[in-house]
Amino acid sequence: MTAPLPTGAPATPSVPEPDWAYLAAHGLDRVADCLRFPAGEPWHTLRRCAHPGCERPAAQKPWLCHRCRAAWVAAGGPADVEAWCAATPPPPERRIYEVRPCAVGCDRPMEASGLCTSCASEA
Ligand SMILES: [Zn+2]
Ligand SMILES: [Zn+2]
Repeated sequence: MTAPLPTGAPATPSVPEPDWAYLAAHGLDRVADCLRFPAGEPWHTLRRCAHPGCERPAAQKPWLCHRCRAAWVAAGGPADVEAWCAATPPPPERRIYEVRPCAVGCDRPMEASGLCTSCASEA
């Protein structure tokens, strides 16, 4: 059972019709029933990272991706994001250390020393 509507409220609230022509001009595909916005538009809520050396998506101000944003916050969140980007290298694409097996030849993953934690503690 639904609760009774407050007196005076219309039974069916009028829903404004979307501006289909506008939406079609901005990426709406009514056949596929989906809306594709071109990334990078200034009004877009998903943009490329503001860091010129970074291609990751950014979803919130100051339009840095999560990795650049973390570095920016660690730097104290300077107001001049552009200057900060110019002075800061982009985050590496991947982990610097890829997972490689222990130098001794056992199956455990190698740590920075070249040995796994187990072999390193035996040395
Ligand atoms: Zn970034
Ligand atoms: Zn080992």
